[in-house]
Amino acid sequence: MYHMEETRNTAATATPTISGDRMSSHFQFSDKNSLPKPDVQILTSNGLRIPVHTGILASVSPVLENIIDRPHKHHSSEKIIPILGVPCDAVSSFIQFLYSSRCSEEELERYGIHLLALSHVYLVPQLKHMCSKSVGQRLTIENVVDVLQLARLCDSPDLYVKCMKTLSNNFKAVEKTEGWKFMQENDPFLELEILKFIDEAESRKMRTRRHREEQRLFMELSEAMECLEHICTEGCTAVGPSDMDPTNQRGPCNKFSTCEGLQFLIKHFATCKNRVNGKCSRCKRMWQLLRLHSSICDRTDSCRVPLCRQFKLKMNRQKKGDETLWSLLVKKVASARVMSSLSLPKRKREELRETIHDHGIRNFRI
Ligand SMILES: [Zn+2]
Ligand SMILES: [Zn+2]
Ligand SMILES: [Zn+2]
Repeated sequence: MYHMEETRNTAATATPTISGDRMSSHFQFSDKNSLPKPDVQILTSNGLRIPVHTGILASVSPVLENIIDRPHKHHSSEKIIPILGVPCDAVSSFIQFLYSSRCSEEELERYGIHLLALSHVYLVPQLKHMCSKSVGQRLTIENVVDVLQLARLCDSPDLYVKCMKTLSNNFKAVEKTEGWKFMQENDPFLELEILKFIDEAESRKMRTRRHREEQRLFMELSEAMECLEHICTEGCTAVGPSDMDPTNQRGPCNKFSTCEGLQFLIKHFATCKNRVNGKCSRCKRMWQLLRLHSSICDRTDSCRVPLCRQFKLKMNRQKKGDETLWSLLVKKVASARVMSSLSLPKRKREELRETIHDHGIRNFRI
């Protein structure tokens, strides 16, 4: 595709050229006087010829080195390397990078996609890295499909993933763009690839959401367990152990939103007529909390939570029965309890407290 051409006529004067001096001043070489005379010209799409040095080109781009080293018929004639198909200024910026290893933000903004293509074709990894980063930062709904195609062609995985994410997060808007419609008609395989990515991203999100909800429930239950123990041993604002001196009553504890809900539930449980016949859903919840406590409680005789021992005895008798779901719940709540006491960062703990405040104990579903 890219090959060396030899000029056979003298019409070169008719095409615009940049003199070596102008080139040097334009590119601001650190030591321009030490550079030898340019020995090759780059030909751009609008016919501009840029004089350059084979030594520098070859040292930065192995592809250009190959082109330069390729033997050509007329030894005396001037060497020309055409770089066509991209704007002339993009080629100038590219050559400037080969000389200086630098590229301005403005150039990246204007010619990022062209420079990405050039750096890929001519194997200039530092520039390719700069371009894929810069193009990725400037993704829009309008250009994302085109850039995705370019990222695929140029084998730029970071940019590819960035495009896919942008696409899947803004799919409704992207679907209306010209770029999308064109791609749909011309590259059905890419369309399929995109739809598959979106589908996987959706189910990933769903899994995370479900996991987070479950975690929240286990944390809420774990906190309810802590409150139950503390109400039954030392008592809190309105409820405490029956043998406790009421004047010793304590102020609100640090999990008060959960604790208060639990205290209401206990008061209800103590007086409800439907406590044992299974007709009251609030009492059912209380039974389940008591049973859950007993399942994770490791105190043998000293536990002051009502029915703890009775539930333990009953469970020992039923050990062989298949209670896999229940034991899974117990395990999860127990591990949520460990997590909340050990590893949860402060911010998370506060968030959690807020959600518990919103839902209160009324939302517990066991
Ligand atoms: Zn409390
Ligand atoms: Zn009840
Ligand atoms: Zn207990």
